[in-house]
Amino acid sequence: MARYTDASCRLCRREGEKLFLKGTRCYTDKCAVARRNQAPGQHGAKKKKLSEYGVQLREKQKAKQFYGVLESQFRKYFEMASNKKGITGENLLQILETRLDNIVYRMGLATSRSEARQIVRHGHIVVNGKKVNIPSYLVEKEDVVSLAESSMNDEKFKVIMEQTSGRTVPAWIDFNAEQKKATVLELPKREDIDLPVQEHLIVELYSK
Ligand code: SF4
Repeated sequence: MARYTDASCRLCRREGEKLFLKGTRCYTDKCAVARRNQAPGQHGAKKKKLSEYGVQLREKQKAKQFYGVLESQFRKYFEMASNKKGITGENLLQILETRLDNIVYRMGLATSRSEARQIVRHGHIVVNGKKVNIPSYLVEKEDVVSLAESSMNDEKFKVIMEQTSGRTVPAWIDFNAEQKKATVLELPKREDIDLPVQEHLIVELYSK
């Protein structure tokens, strides 16, 4: 059987974790990690012992890839997290989780975060009644995120919502599927975020 070597799946295999980068495929048994969880490449089956720095770096890479964020933006989020009250690692995850593209993905209006970014950029999303086309826009408590009126009858969203109907919308978001509208009930806590990273290792990496 041919091995599935898509670039996104290679990232997951590199991290040894499902990072949900490919939409509906990630939830099926066609997922490359589910089928063969080893790093890509000829020597992928050999488990390399990582240095302390290597372990920290991998955790950071995993978080960046999970949310589709570039290094400069990620570093900016870290600075924001450090300046907030509370635990820096948890603050960092909370900031990432409240990106508008992630909310759209969590609402089930996109099959992947990269599709959610495209949907936001194309002007399909409204926050508190105003069109917002910036995927990195950070939502706040009580913000209302919805599909733009002009996109309500777009067949594309009907198909996407059928594909994502099996997913659970996190409890910190109140989602009305009929109205395609979500209210942020509260900002997510660590236990609400399903990112498989040890965020304290990212903090250690950036604190060097
Ligand atoms: Fe590919 Fe998605 Fe599986 Fe990652 S989780 S390996 S992107 S199918």
